[in-house]
Amino acid sequence: MGYQQGGDRGYGSGGGYGSGQKEMHKAICADCKKECTVPFKPSGDRPVYCKECFAKRRDSGR
Ligand SMILES: [Zn+2]
Repeated sequence: MGYQQGGDRGYGSGGGYGSGQKEMHKAICADCKKECTVPFKPSGDRPVYCKECFAKRRDSGR
C-alpha cells in the first residue's frame, strides 16, 4: 500500500473545468472555410483552423 486516494476531495467536484470558462471566438477555418469556434482570439495574422483541420494538420503535418 502506498497510494491512498480519497480523503478530502473538495476540489473540482462538479464537472467541467472548474473556474475560468474559456472564451470562444468565431472564426473561419482557413482550410475548409467552415465556421468554427476557437478558444483564442483570431488575430487575423495567422490562419485559423477548425478542430478537424487542426488535428489533420497536426497529424499529417511536416
Ligand atoms: Zn477546417
